[in-house]
Amino acid sequence: MAKPKETPMMQQYNQIKAQYPDAFLFYRLGDFYELFNDDAVLGSQLLELTLTQRNKNSDVPIPMAGVPHHAAQNYIDILVDKGYKVAVVEQMENPATAEGMVKREVVQLITPGTRMQTGADSAKENNYLVSVIGAENGSYGLAYADLSTGELSATQLVAMNTVINEIVRLEAKEVVSNGTLPADLIANLTNLGVMISEQDQIDPSADISYLVQALQAAALTAAKLLLAYLFTTQKRSLDHLQIAKHYEIAQFLKLDRNSRANLELTVNLRTQQRGGTLLWLLDETQTAMGGRMLKQWLEQPLLDQDDILARYDKIDQFKTQFLIRNDLQTALKGVYDLERLVGRIAYGTANGRDLLQIRNSLRQIPNIVALLSDLDSAVIGELQSRIDPVTELETLITQAITDEPPISIKDGGIIKDGYHKQLDDYRHVMRNGKQWLAEMEATERQETGINSLKIGYNKVFGYYIEVTKANIDKLDATRYTRKQTLVNAERFVTPELKTHEQQILEAEEKSSALEYQVFTEIREQVKVNITRLQNLAKSLSELDVLLAFTSVAEKYHFVRPELTTGHELKIVNGRHPVVEKVLGHQAYVANNIEMAVDQTVMLITGPNMSGKSTYMRQLALTVVLAQVGSFVPAESANLPIFDQIFTRIGAADDLISGNSTFMVEMAEANTALSDATSHSLILFDELGRGTATFDGMALAQAIIEYVHDHVHAKTLFSTHYHELTTLADELPQLFNMHVGAHEEAGNLIFSHKVLPGPADQSYGINVAKLAGLPELVIQRATKILKQLEAESAHIAPNNQTFESPENSSEQQLTLFDNALMTPTMSEALTRLQTADLANLTPIQA
Ligand code: ADP
Repeated sequence: MAKPKETPMMQQYNQIKAQYPDAFLFYRLGDFYELFNDDAVLGSQLLELTLTQRNKNSDVPIPMAGVPHHAAQNYIDILVDKGYKVAVVEQMENPATAEGMVKREVVQLITPGTRMQTGADSAKENNYLVSVIGAENGSYGLAYADLSTGELSATQLVAMNTVINEIVRLEAKEVVSNGTLPADLIANLTNLGVMISEQDQIDPSADISYLVQALQAAALTAAKLLLAYLFTTQKRSLDHLQIAKHYEIAQFLKLDRNSRANLELTVNLRTQQRGGTLLWLLDETQTAMGGRMLKQWLEQPLLDQDDILARYDKIDQFKTQFLIRNDLQTALKGVYDLERLVGRIAYGTANGRDLLQIRNSLRQIPNIVALLSDLDSAVIGELQSRIDPVTELETLITQAITDEPPISIKDGGIIKDGYHKQLDDYRHVMRNGKQWLAEMEATERQETGINSLKIGYNKVFGYYIEVTKANIDKLDATRYTRKQTLVNAERFVTPELKTHEQQILEAEEKSSALEYQVFTEIREQVKVNITRLQNLAKSLSELDVLLAFTSVAEKYHFVRPELTTGHELKIVNGRHPVVEKVLGHQAYVANNIEMAVDQTVMLITGPNMSGKSTYMRQLALTVVLAQVGSFVPAESANLPIFDQIFTRIGAADDLISGNSTFMVEMAEANTALSDATSHSLILFDELGRGTATFDGMALAQAIIEYVHDHVHAKTLFSTHYHELTTLADELPQLFNMHVGAHEEAGNLIFSHKVLPGPADQSYGINVAKLAGLPELVIQRATKILKQLEAESAHIAPNNQTFESPENSSEQQLTLFDNALMTPTMSEALTRLQTADLANLTPIQA
């Protein structure tokens, strides 16, 4: 049987589809976008559309599903959110006048990383598209952009792990590459749910040299690849793209992705939302732009002391002036998302309402500048001087744009009277014409004596005179031409009416076309000022974030930290700000954290649920806050500037690689031991808990010793291995702290107070009781514990470290039931003691 012939339309469709095999093709057909074949089958499921068929009666009907063109954006967003690409195919000529097949082209490819965010949900979120290339020397170039704001940055990275960290930090959904990435990096990214888009050609169609002038080597290549991808997919000028910033990850406090997640800086571990995070606490910003900048700051705490102090100094100024601060925040509330508005201007999608939002935002600026100068401070003056009111634009938009422009830019009603001479003339004709019609109606009523006579308009017949059937006889039939008969009325026209109709319609048509043209000219004038508006947006965002820091400092009693140049650390009455916010200021027990220059390891013992983990996180969050330039939750705080924070907190399983908790623990410990410096902060919460008691404790001790002897990073180590507290006798830079608890009528009461010295018991059984375990279990456990304690009383105090292998393992073991010890376990222990932890890979561990 001969292959059925394709219709010309399906031929065209298939040709275009062949170029975009991995995208849904939204093929414009009149008032609809149609999906065909597999796209239609899958699309109808994902979008809940009715699946129909084209050429129903042929041998091979084609599956088809469609969406109305005006609702297309919603459907596209749904698909892109689900991780698909959508190619939008438009009719490139008017079907009414086209000869043969209407010409169609892909006008835009929408992908997860190029989706223009809209709506309130995403206002405070960036949508970053990242590109990564592998360089010949084994390093990587990485660039990222937010298409909606035009932000563009690039860097060079040495290790694959830092590439992944950056991509995770940026929450990128899509990574552009050019076939230069190692397979395991691709696999890692795919496991993280990141879409990989290949883009071969590196040189963008447009001239982008001015955008990338600050970049070199691999960073430059990555940025070019990113831009090439943007131009290929968006197929339009992107004048809002900002000159690329070169950055180094070494400029910022280093936090790997586990630490970011563990500390819940921007994402709650449990809910994967903002609630309960540090960002949630801090976000008192008034604008969407400020909200995004706050998040960026929080993800890149600073290292440079002067930069940090400059932020503190501004907060100090705002703090003293409550009224001015309040007025500033009120003014900021009236500022719209200038960055994204500018993006829409460049993109060519801005309408009259967008221009008004720009205008209304600009109207706040003189007030903001005046309020800042009222503060009369040199520190604030620096910020004030960076705020450019872009007055000409405010004037232009006020003169040109009506107060309530419609959404559409093609139907008129956007440009004010008096702005454009020709437009005024057309409008004169239109208004006169309408006036004339009203007069004609009055005269006709008078002459015919028919009071119900009216002049109306419809699209098919134009203007007409309508007379009810009861009154028809009163008309002089020779003067009127009948046009349409309704149930109760007849509609007529006269030559006079037709002439005027002609004039009115012509003026209306010309007027809307001219308005569109005038509007696009105004948009061009705004476009000329894009860079100024973007700079204004940045200054206002910064102001917004600093005011938010000030509000938070006031509301939650934060203080300005003192940055120490030595390596000591002293926090008086510090709090975990998020737990405090949830529990309330009264209920939270404040704690001191003090480590002298020569104190490296703080070993914290105390029962479960007593507050060890909270205490450790409190320190990390305080450090992050201080280096972000915010005040901190304490009565006073002296802090060094840390270069990196490592955490091993909680039991967050590494779901991505499917590793066990213990494996993750060891991998994280390994990162800390190999990468930390004496200026780093390490938090180990119950390290070793993921494995059997003996190896866990052995590893814990070996790791503590290693940190103490070789790394010298400030380290907080919480443990329920009570035996470890004797390490203080051996290791001069280690000291014990414990969380207070006492028994009351057989119940355990936590004071949440962290105090010097080791805890006296581990209280595990009491916690089990709290958790509601059966009384029989509790009794039995108490009995076993007593036996164990009696046995351990026979041996010497355990003050040996594993560096004296002759007897240490034996002593550790006799603390417990000997029957538990097998030869394999004892061998395991020896191997653990001798393991070179710093150079252990996760697999070896
Ligand atoms: P641990 O790490 O010792 O098991 P956590 O740090 O998880 O204990 O704390 C357990 C609970 O105790 C927390 O959920 C919190 O509600 C409460 N808590 C911890 N620290 C404090 C504190 N300083 N003040 C008041 N409540 C606290």
